[in-house]
Formats: sequence, C-alpha cells, structure tokens
Amino acid sequence: MALAEQAKRVAAEFEFDADGVNKAVKEFMREMDEGLQREGTELSQIPTYVTAVPNGTEKGLYMSVDLGGTNFRVCSVRLHGNTTFSLTQSKVAIPRELMVAKTSKELFSFLAKQIEAFLKTHHEDHYAGHLRRRQTGDAIKEEEIFSLGFTFSFPVNQVGINKGMLMRWTKGFDIPDAVGKDVCALLQAEIDALHLPVRVAALVNDTVGTLMARSYQSPGKTGTLLGAIFGTGTNGAYVEKLNKVAKLIKNKDAGAYDKSTGEMVVNTEWGSFDNSLRTLPNTSYDIELDAKSVNPGIQMFEKRVSGMFLGEILRLALVTLLEDPNVPLFRDENSGTNDIHSTTQIHEGSPLFRQWGIDTSFLSICASDNSPGYKQIRQTLDRDYMISAVSAEDAEAVKEIAGAIAKRAARLSAVAIAAIVIDSGRLEKTPGAAATTEKKADVNPPRGDVESSGRGDVAEEDVIDIGADGSLVEFYPNFEDYIREALREIPEIGEAGEKRVRIGIAKDGSGVGAALIALVAGRVV
Ligand code: ADP
Repeated sequence: MALAEQAKRVAAEFEFDADGVNKAVKEFMREMDEGLQREGTELSQIPTYVTAVPNGTEKGLYMSVDLGGTNFRVCSVRLHGNTTFSLTQSKVAIPRELMVAKTSKELFSFLAKQIEAFLKTHHEDHYAGHLRRRQTGDAIKEEEIFSLGFTFSFPVNQVGINKGMLMRWTKGFDIPDAVGKDVCALLQAEIDALHLPVRVAALVNDTVGTLMARSYQSPGKTGTLLGAIFGTGTNGAYVEKLNKVAKLIKNKDAGAYDKSTGEMVVNTEWGSFDNSLRTLPNTSYDIELDAKSVNPGIQMFEKRVSGMFLGEILRLALVTLLEDPNVPLFRDENSGTNDIHSTTQIHEGSPLFRQWGIDTSFLSICASDNSPGYKQIRQTLDRDYMISAVSAEDAEAVKEIAGAIAKRAARLSAVAIAAIVIDSGRLEKTPGAAATTEKKADVNPPRGDVESSGRGDVAEEDVIDIGADGSLVEFYPNFEDYIREALREIPEIGEAGEKRVRIGIAKDGSGVGAALIALVAGRVV
C-alpha cells in the first residue's frame, strides 16, 4: 500500500463521527447529573461557592496570586467598570527547596514576602499609609484592605469561598504537614505575620477564573455560561442552577454561600469524563499512551483532548507505522528526488523514539503548512525531531495523521461544550429578531482578544457566551471550526444553536478572574 493510503488508514482510526459525538453528549449529561448528586463520580462536579458571574460593570482595586507549578504570580487588578481593566504583576520562580520544605510555614511565608515586596513596589502609598496607621495605633480602615483571590492549582477539598483543604501535593511539591490544612488560612497567617493589608477572600480554580474573566469582558448582559481550558490539560467550569447542586445542599459541613442568585459555578473536572470508556473513542494508540502513563485509567478524556497528550498520540502512531516494514515512511526510496544529498535519515537520539518526544505545537505546524512540498513540516522534522531530508510524501502523511488527531480532540471538546449548553436550558429561550442585533452589535462591539461567532445576525441577548483559554484552542488553526462543525451535528443544537454560541479567548483567568472572584466573595462573606 502506498504511503498516502497508509496514512489515510491511520487517520481514519481517529474518526469520531456524528453518532459517536451524540452518544458521548448524552453520556456527558448523565455524568454531569450524577456528579451533582454525590461524591466519587467520574465528573467530580465540584461546587465552587461562587454564586454570581460579573457583567462588566464591576469596579475597584483587587489582588490575586497564583501558585501554579513553577512560578508564583502576584497581581493587582484595577477594574474600570466598563469591561476593561488594568493589571500589574510580578512573577517569581519558586525555589526548589521550598517545594519540599520541612514545614508549610516556610513556603507560605515566602509567598507572603512576595506579596509584601509587590505592595512596596507597586502600591507604596497604600502600603505606607497602612504601616503608619499601625504604628500610630489608628484604626485600620476597611477600605484599605485588599481582597485577594488565591489561585491554587493543586487538588483541594473546597468547603467555602475562601476555605479549602489540601488533598495532596502534585507537580513535584511535597510538604507533608500542609496536607489536610486550609491553604487560605496558611497564607493568611503569614500575611498577618507581616501585617499586610490583605485578606484572602477567595480560593480559585483556574477554570472558574477563566469563566469570570470572560464574563467581565464579554459584551452583552447575559453572563458567560462556561469557562473552558484547552492547554496542557483540559477542564471546564459552568454556571449551574443552585437547586440542582444536590450534594452541596445536602452537605451539613458545607460553608456559607449566597443563595439569592439561585446559581452556583460548578467545576466539572471534565478531564476524567467517561474514564470507564462507555463512549470515548479508543484506538490502539490511546491504549498504549494510557498504559504507559503515570495514571492509567484516569483522565481518559484529557488524554484524548489536551496539549499534554496529542503530540504523544501522534508519536505513537508514527512509530507504529515505522515498525511496519511494508510502510515506506521516512525511507530513502520514498525521498523521491535525484538529489544525492537527500538521504532520509532518522538520527540517533531523535525525540521520535522518546516518550513525550513530540510537542503538540507540532500539530499546529502541520495544520498550518499548506505550502507545496510542505517545507515547514519538513524543516521542523529536521530541526526539532532529528529526521532529515524527508520527502513531501512523508510530510503529507504526517500532516494527515496529525490533522485527524487534532480534529478528534476538537470534536471531543464539542461534546463537553454541547452537553453544558444543552443542560443550561439557554437554547430554549427564543432567539430575538435579527434587526435588534445589528443595532446592539454596533453599540457594544465584542471585546475579547479573539472573538468568534455570535454570527452577525444573532441578537446579543441570544448569544450563549463561552470563555476559552489555552494554547490548543488559541493556536491550533482549525480547532474552533472543528468544534462548530460537531456542534451543528448535534440535533438539540443544530445550525441555529451553533450560531448562538460565541467563543471568546479569555486570557489571564488567574489574574483578573481571581480578582473578580475576590470581589464577588466580598459581597457574600
Ligand atoms: P497551561 O495549560 O500549562 O497553562 P498552555 O495553555 O500554554 O499552558 O498550554 C500548553 C500546552 O499547549 C502544551 O501541552 C503544549 O504542547 C501545547 N501547545 C503549545 N503551543 C501550541 C500550539 N501552537 N498549538 C497547539 N498546542 C500548543
């Protein structure tokens, strides 16, 4: 079989047809519901205690900090109340020894010191005034205290808007005495020890931050429905009706929350959707990837969708082809030129033979290179993957397979989006007249960095707004188009529904998003 046909055969293994999409949507909705009822389900459906999303009119000065894997970020955010904001930030690498410190105090006092340095540098007046009042014994003014949103990207058992117990460390951190403790209280104690005018007002998950950041910046009065991340990992948080969050209502240990809005943001943790593979597509490459991963059987949706894994799926597919003596991939006889220097060669030490050796950004390169002879793909294979002098046929085969893997990921992403859109009931609201739309659109133009949808003739109040973040959705050339194509194939959504979905890139969830959660939290606590 010619190489092109072999590539088509492998690409076909990644097909996820309309029937598959529709079955998965039904399963997603079932798991959403199940996760709202009780603990220990595939979709965790974690109540976040955030009971309102912003509408762009919020004002004030707030702070946020983000403890991710390698860096600690401190921000102050001024919300101008007209969907815009200004942000000041500093970033510092977390010293390795603090990630494995003997006591959590060492780490958290380091974090508090970074907040102090940030205040001294960027809010000197504020800080000095506070310090003076402390020294003179004058009363601290409430309005002088910064409310701070704390993005903490480790598993926590959240029991209140600013209270959550660390379940376990990940990403190379290991400070045993912090496990089981409230991370907000740990940070607040060290902030207080330095007498800083800062209150830890909210514990923030990055997807909720994305939702909030988008809702503040999005045009229109109907708040954003969903914040979705398609980066290293994938996850989404959405606005749910409070009376459906049964496990929170039943939980006697639940902290206080505002019931007046009738809503609560729920963090789905959809990376583990359908871990039992009822509806997820499953190729031999998926099986191999999972078996060799650190957490077999877990995060099965994420392993088919997110940036961490797509490059590896491609690598496994290519290696499988290479191992087949009948497939002329990266072979001399295929270099097809009369240039004597163009001997195709996979150099020793090529990342192609190393687990995680192919980065998902390569899939974007494959998708965007439509030049004759696929010069960019070939150059990248040479430069980054130590595979030299490949033919145009080789490059085309790689492009075909890479495209199929990304397309499947986008169609799977559409499953999660569709389930949440259908479940929200927002589709049932009758679309308004087209005439109103154009008028509104003029008055209130979209403001996201990248904006799509709400195709021209949809009235602003009929738009179902979604905030997205992550390199995959931002940079993969056709990711959103593929999502939309799949949305149209779902009868409950169809073409009319798909037009109403607006997807806007909402960067900086852990900066402005966390600050907004601190603001919303202040209204309640
Ligand atoms: P994070 O999710 O860690 O905050 P990103 O949103 O930047 O960060 O996502 C990083 C992931 O995106 C990595 O897995 C990387 O392989 C992938 N990635 C980076 N650039 C691109 C690109 N141009 N196209 C597709 N995927 C990309």
